[in-house]
Amino acid sequence: MPGKNLSRDEAQQRASILAVDGYQVRLDVTSAPDPAAATFRSTTTIAFRCTEPGAAAFVDLLAPAVRSVTLNGRELDPATAFDGARVHVDGLAAENVLVVDADCAYSRTGEGLHRFTDPVDGETYLYTHYEPADARRVFADFEQPDLKAPFSFTVTAPAAWDVWSNAVHEEVTAEGDARTWRFAPTKPISTYLTAVVAGPYHVARDHYSRTLADGTALEIPLSAMCRKSLAPHFDADEILGTTKLGLDFFHEQFDYPYPFGKYDQAFVPEYNIGAMENPGCVTFREEFVFRSKVTDAAYEGRANVVLHEMAHMWFGDLVTMRWWDDLWLKESFADFMGSYGLIGARTRFSSAWVTFANQRKAWAYRQDQFPTTHPITADIRDLEDAKLNFDGITYAKGASVLKQLVAYVGSEAFFEGARRYFKRHAFGNTELADLLDILEETSGRDLTAWAAAWLQTAGVNALTPQVTVDAEGRITELAVLQDAGNGDTVRPHRIAVGLYDRDADGALVRTDRIELDVTGARTVVAGAVGRPRPALVLLNDDDLTYCKIRFDAESLETLRAGLGDVQDDLARALAWSAVWNLTRDGLMPARDYIALVLRFAGQEANIGVLQSLHTQAKGAVDLYADPAWRGEGGRLLADGALRELRAAAPGSDHQLAWARFLAQTANGSEHLGLVRGLLAGTARIDGLDVDQELRWSLWLALAAAGQAADEELAEELKADHTASGNRQYTQCLAARPTPEAKAAAWSAVVDSDELPNALVEANIAGFALPSHRDLTALYAAPYFKLLERVWSERTIEIAMRIVGGFFPRAQIDEQTLAEADAWLDGHPGAAPALRRLVLECRDDLARALRAQACDRV
Ligand SMILES: [Zn+2]
Repeated sequence: MPGKNLSRDEAQQRASILAVDGYQVRLDVTSAPDPAAATFRSTTTIAFRCTEPGAAAFVDLLAPAVRSVTLNGRELDPATAFDGARVHVDGLAAENVLVVDADCAYSRTGEGLHRFTDPVDGETYLYTHYEPADARRVFADFEQPDLKAPFSFTVTAPAAWDVWSNAVHEEVTAEGDARTWRFAPTKPISTYLTAVVAGPYHVARDHYSRTLADGTALEIPLSAMCRKSLAPHFDADEILGTTKLGLDFFHEQFDYPYPFGKYDQAFVPEYNIGAMENPGCVTFREEFVFRSKVTDAAYEGRANVVLHEMAHMWFGDLVTMRWWDDLWLKESFADFMGSYGLIGARTRFSSAWVTFANQRKAWAYRQDQFPTTHPITADIRDLEDAKLNFDGITYAKGASVLKQLVAYVGSEAFFEGARRYFKRHAFGNTELADLLDILEETSGRDLTAWAAAWLQTAGVNALTPQVTVDAEGRITELAVLQDAGNGDTVRPHRIAVGLYDRDADGALVRTDRIELDVTGARTVVAGAVGRPRPALVLLNDDDLTYCKIRFDAESLETLRAGLGDVQDDLARALAWSAVWNLTRDGLMPARDYIALVLRFAGQEANIGVLQSLHTQAKGAVDLYADPAWRGEGGRLLADGALRELRAAAPGSDHQLAWARFLAQTANGSEHLGLVRGLLAGTARIDGLDVDQELRWSLWLALAAAGQAADEELAEELKADHTASGNRQYTQCLAARPTPEAKAAAWSAVVDSDELPNALVEANIAGFALPSHRDLTALYAAPYFKLLERVWSERTIEIAMRIVGGFFPRAQIDEQTLAEADAWLDGHPGAAPALRRLVLECRDDLARALRAQACDRV
């Protein structure tokens, strides 16, 4: 569709002549409960100024139909003014009023106004999600972050519903079966941040108050909501408790009163991402409402997201990037604040930095080694580019680099910089230079070189210790070698070097810590000379910088013999992530990594680290192990899972994690027999509650092994006829190891756009099990043929899932690599965002081939 992919140039041009005074948006969603109704009425009135009277412009709108367009009282013909993506207007005056009356579509892809009907009680729920550019699916607008304006929403909805938006409602009037909610005007905000949530949601209410420095009282009404049928599982108290701790903490740190009045948090169905920071009306994926037992890592993850979104009220909502190039200006900060806040706000999640080091950074390291990696400040030409940049660089690497910046300039200068940034740019838009100027003021340091090294270049360095010792075993020199990495840049790193030895009880404990600046390719660690050679040299101890950690030969031997004996949680997490990086880089055979997991994961105290070990070990078998050994590797993992499941403390998080891991790895008759026994109630593991979500994991194991009868799966769905049950049932069907099941899943996703986002995802997940590589091999050729059609016909959210999910990633051979290359060579003109996705999948495949070569003996 022409004009759908708004470019940076167009946005700049538009901002150079326009300023928006305000939007009035009227939505009528009374038709929503009727599944036959495809659209809702949307009437937008935009008041805006133009510095070049007579000029032409366009507003963005993705809608099935436009009824009328009126500019300054003049009727325009929708048939010529509206092209499906834009409403073109010309002859602008200095001051303009544009009215666009349209029929917009209810969404089933999570983009725009998403509609969901609950299978439990038939109730319908609506919510909006826009970032980066889907507000135009709900009302006509100037869809770019720097044309901020106040928004006044009026929503007519079924009488039994409640409606929320960014601001408080000022009036509700009833008429027949409907009620109309008129909301107060918002502060000036960007289009992508507006929100509407509507439906018979269950609501928990609370209140936050605080006396500000000037003595005035700040009052913030709080609420949290979810679907009615989830209400019995909704632990709103815990969520609202974290919310209050966060509000205390960010007020102390930011010294700028929360600017958006009230604070609602809606947990909504079929949500594409974790959460979205709509001012005053945050939306979260409802999987954060836990229907069954989850480990504490899940609670920590949710609390992190609550604080991440809250930090956005300042970083992102109050001060917003001018264009998507500087997306990191909000996401890197919010990601950093999620972990920083868990500690600073004194939540119970004291190991937030362990999780960050082990999981968040893994995402960054992976993304930063793709050929498509980019600097943290990116070059975003258009909206498709923007959509793909919600990635491991913008979030996790950016947050890692801010952590390094705090180590570099000190936390006082960093937070004083944040405080000035909010005051100076409140309700405005910024770029990199605006932030650097302020940080230079507060730190007194020239940050040009730092920014060039960390924000404006791509790639990850590896740091390796080089230790020489004398005849008595004393260090004569300890040096840190820095390789330029895939980005050809060496960087200044503030790091700590930890020296570890065994204590009297055999634990590996830190005996010395040396902090220094690493610059250039080789840096000598002053102060190490003359010390006894330690058992383990751990670079980047305390995880101050962003790098891959390597080891000298003796330290690696120490870890092979005793990784689990490293006493400190963070140091051990760093060691785990380093050996995983070695495996991914083809420097440690997959079977060696798996042996480490089998030997030491049972001792791993940190539940989040344990769960990532499970994911990585499974990935190592599926992708990185020599195919000749893969079967044995898989059996070893399943045996290990069973052993640790039986050994775990009854009722513990660790027991649940091992049970889930058994479900993922079960392959022999012993394991699958236990799985069936647990489902039937004929087998028991003391303390293990086989609740609904665990049941589905167990059914998935049986389905994938061809041991779940269709009637049994249907029976389970009957017992759990919920949104989650539907998804998992769909995944089980797609996971059956038959050509028919694979064909049905493929076709359901590819041949029609009837399925909602959640079921697209479930079908792909079941279809693409690596263990079914023989069954799915014949889909490689059709995959490459359908790419361009999918990209042009489907919404970008769905297209991204299909392109990434159906890539033949389990076909790890030269032929598939050649097919990927042939597609890339043959389609130089394909959409850059599509090429980027394929390039990344292709790179994963090439990496797997290298890792397999390393594992081949
Ligand atoms: Zn965010």
